[in-house]
Amino acid sequence: MLVVDDDEQVHAMTRVLLKDFEFEGRRFAIVSAFSAAEAREILAERSDLPVVLLDVVMETHDAGLRLVHHIRRDLGNRHIRIILRTGQPGQAPEREAIVAYDINDYKSKAELTAQKLFTSLVGAVRSWRDLVTIETLNQSLERRVAERTAELERQTAVADEQRRFIENLVELMPSPVWYRDAAGRYALCNRAFRELFPNAADGIEWTSGRQAAGGRGESEQEPAGTAAISFETSVEGPDGDARELLVVKRPLTAPNGEEAGVIGIATDITERRRMEHELHRLATTDPLSGAYNRRHILDLLERLLSGQGIAPDIRQDGGAACLIMLDIDHFKRINDELGHAAGDIAIRRAVEEIRNHLRAADHIGRIGGEEFAILLPGTSYADGTAIAERLRDGLAKLTITLSDGRRFQLTGSFGLTEVRPLGDSVESVLGRADQALYRAKALGRNRVEAT
Ligand code: GH3
Ligand code: MG
Ligand code: MG
Repeated sequence: MLVVDDDEQVHAMTRVLLKDFEFEGRRFAIVSAFSAAEAREILAERSDLPVVLLDVVMETHDAGLRLVHHIRRDLGNRHIRIILRTGQPGQAPEREAIVAYDINDYKSKAELTAQKLFTSLVGAVRSWRDLVTIETLNQSLERRVAERTAELERQTAVADEQRRFIENLVELMPSPVWYRDAAGRYALCNRAFRELFPNAADGIEWTSGRQAAGGRGESEQEPAGTAAISFETSVEGPDGDARELLVVKRPLTAPNGEEAGVIGIATDITERRRMEHELHRLATTDPLSGAYNRRHILDLLERLLSGQGIAPDIRQDGGAACLIMLDIDHFKRINDELGHAAGDIAIRRAVEEIRNHLRAADHIGRIGGEEFAILLPGTSYADGTAIAERLRDGLAKLTITLSDGRRFQLTGSFGLTEVRPLGDSVESVLGRADQALYRAKALGRNRVEAT
């Protein structure tokens, strides 16, 4: 407690009055200031004083009142309880002072008996303590609010950064990416998607749907449960060209477990497929004649023999098939008389001619120099023989014209055998066809023999 009074006797009196009183086991600690100026110095140092007992008239007639303003306004000390004590009642303008100055009590020195002074001080200390407690609670509350706000702002900033990262990443991705909501709308999609499907709002025509490796059902193209599905499909691109796509779709579930739509990503595999086809073509084709090469035509024969299909629209499960072996007659003469280049042209033109008589399911492969195997799936022995005859006739009627105008003709000898899937072998089929071919040669060439 601070006692401010220019009368030394008042200080002594106050000590005497309070000497026998204790509050919460302690006597009041009294700090004395003998002028308003001295009180200012003390108060500037000590903001922890609970009460000030303040005289009004000291250096000037209102030095005490000015000190009140100093405490509240300049020092900002709103907690300290200020009890004004005047020498004589009426000496200061009581009512105006109470209203105009932020004081807590106003007493005349005469009225302050020991008991009243003590009561007044205890009340002041209690209310000071309440104020300090409230202030402390307020401060800690404000600090926690500020900390929480900062934490939320930080989290929001991180979430915002992540969202922008994902948005930009998705937008930049070269593959079309989309989210189709439960109502079937393409609610989110990236630039690649918008370029490939400018009219996605009207729905997308996924044409063929071939299940990719790891896929589930054959025709299933919508994911079920939470599992992702993938399938290959082709669509018409904005330029009108077909695009081969590998599509992966996955259902999106909302936090409440409800299905919220489907997210998807499509990889354009058009170029990959084109290269695969090209590689396959190079690996299976004989470059001179354009027919399949030896290895591939024998592979096809092998597959036919093991019951696998080689032509999707023809039943081959144990059904009849035929193999024809063709060898061009007196080919050496063509080479000798017209040159090797003419021989090459003859090989190409002969293959073209044969192809003109074959169905899409049939295959021709070059077995050796001017020797070919022709595989006829789903063809009976009788039909095969008729086809071989047509091939022989076509070849015999073919006239080949060289660039220098020279013309020539050729013939071929044909050996036919039936292919019996399951139980037959490549070697025996080839052996029988060779035998028949040998016989055709022996019997004069330009003819069909069958075994
Ligand atoms: P035939 O079959 O009627 O008994 O008589 P051939 O003259 O056709 O007999 P052979 O099978 O012995 O001769 C085939 C010739 O084909 C030998 C070879 O020089 C020629 N030949 C092989 N491959 C090619 C080729 O790629 N281009 C050309 N121009 N000639 C080839
Ligand atoms: Mg020959
Ligand atoms: Mg030959």
